[in-house]
This record gives sequence, structure tokens and C-alpha cells, in this order.
Amino acid sequence: MFLKKIISIFLLFVVTFAFCSCGEVKKSTDKISVVTTIFPYYDFARSVSKGTCDVDMLLKPGSDVHSFEPTPSDIIKIRNADLFIYNGGESDEWVDSILESLGDTDKPVVMKMTDYVKPLAEMDADHHAEDEEDEHIWTSLDNAKTLVSKISDEVSKLDQKHKTVYNKNSLDYIEKISKVQIEIENTVNSSKSKKIVVGDRFPLLYFATEFSLDWECAFPGCSTETEPSLDRLSKLTDTIEKDKIKTILKLEMSENKVADTLADETNTKVRTFYSAESVSKEDFANNVTYVDLMKRNNNALKEALSNDTN
Ligand SMILES: [Zn+2]
Repeated sequence: MFLKKIISIFLLFVVTFAFCSCGEVKKSTDKISVVTTIFPYYDFARSVSKGTCDVDMLLKPGSDVHSFEPTPSDIIKIRNADLFIYNGGESDEWVDSILESLGDTDKPVVMKMTDYVKPLAEMDADHHAEDEEDEHIWTSLDNAKTLVSKISDEVSKLDQKHKTVYNKNSLDYIEKISKVQIEIENTVNSSKSKKIVVGDRFPLLYFATEFSLDWECAFPGCSTETEPSLDRLSKLTDTIEKDKIKTILKLEMSENKVADTLADETNTKVRTFYSAESVSKEDFANNVTYVDLMKRNNNALKEALSNDTN
């Protein structure tokens, strides 16, 4: 993390030098510009804006947020933005040093999303609470609705003449989130089983808590581990057998083989679940939204909760 800070400060020097040598860089349009770190906030801002603002995301589609390093051009984007939206938490630790180094006059309006919702304590794979807060707040659809509304408020303050547009767009999007939220609730309520087995990392604590789902996972939170302990593997296998689970889950863009290996051993199927933390290149090119990903999650959940006791 220290190294990341050094790199960020070095990049800031490079950027500052670039500014000094060629004067103020002009924005390309009169629209206000919103820059976000990760996909959920890009999607929320895009849905509030619907083309009224310029919305840009720093994390490249198809890449992993946990290994993100800002480039000089990312820092220029932040400095030039009217509004900068980031999550807060471990994955965004690089942000603070960059914001600190920008002078007050250069700073965009900043929204740190973890400030707007109630945090949950991180949990280890055995469901013991840790000291740190879990950062994956957007996987709760209630949180998503709150955050859409907060983005709309902030964008409206910056661009008052389009206030009614932003307000309408945000209400429309919140309604879409509510609709898929009800669909997921119906899926959970109509299933006897309330337990999901995720043979992968588990950035889904807020989602599971919102829908009162029980869970087992291979690795807690966004652990960088790729090989679970034998204990953990046998715990997962036991759960699958005891609860007669037919479908287990893995995450989008997964980099480990745990779910596939488990599925082979237990004769279960594997479905993909989307944390929405980042988005694939293909989905990005097709303008897939957070709501679309939650609809896919609802379909995966129907299978994951339909065990042999139903
Ligand atoms: Zn994560």
C-alpha cells in the first residue's frame, strides 16, 4: 500500500508538471463531467444523466478493481471532473493521497459512497465479524437506490438547469431497481432453501443480508487467495450434500477453479453471480446495466435455491 502511495504521488508530480508546461487543459464540452472509480457508480451516474453529463469510469472494463493503479491520465480526469465518485474502503485507498495532493481550487466535488449507507462488518468464511467494514455496499439494492438518489442530488446542485431531468431519470432508475428487488424477494420467498454456496470470493455480504440468505463461500470478501484450505473445501462439500444443493455459484470474471472443481466432485452445476464490482468488456460494449446484472443474478439464484427438497 505504501508503494501505491509513492506511485500516486509520483504520478501527481508528472501531472502537475504537464499542467505547468502547457497551461490549463480545457474541457471538451459544456456538459458537467462525472468521473467514477468502479462500475456500479458509473452505471448509477449514467442512468441519472442519460447523456446530460459526461460520465467516465476509471476502472477499465474487464479489469480487476483490486489491482487497479491510477495512470497520469486518470489523475488528470479526476482533477478536471466536476464530480468525482468513489467507493471508499480498501480498494480505493489510493484515492485519498491523490485528493490530498490536489489543491482545494483543483478539487472536484467528491462523493465517497461508503459515507451514505450503513456499513456491515466484514466476515470471515466462518461468519465471524472482523474489525474492518465490508466495502461492497452496492450489492444491497436498498443501498443502490439510496446512492442513485444521492448522485442525483449532487449532480443537480452542480447543474441546476437540468435538475428536473436528473430527478426524473433517478426516479425511473430507482423504480427499475425496486422491480428487480421484488423479483429477487419472490425468488427467495418461494424457495424452501435459503442457502447459497459460492465456490469463490464472497463480496456479497450486503446482498445476502438484504435477502436473509444463508451462505457458505470459499474465500471471504475479496480475498486474493486462490486455494482454499482443505477444511474449507470439506465444509463446502458437506453443505452441498447435507442441503442437497444442485447448483453452486461463482463470480463473474473469476480467476480460480474452486467452483468448477467442487461441482465435479459433488455432481452439481455452476452458475455465474455478478457482484457488479467490475464489468466485462463485452457487457460494457452492450451497455449492460447494474439492473441487468441483478436480473441475471435472480435467474442464477432461482437455480441455486432450488434444491432436491423443493
Ligand atoms: Zn471487492
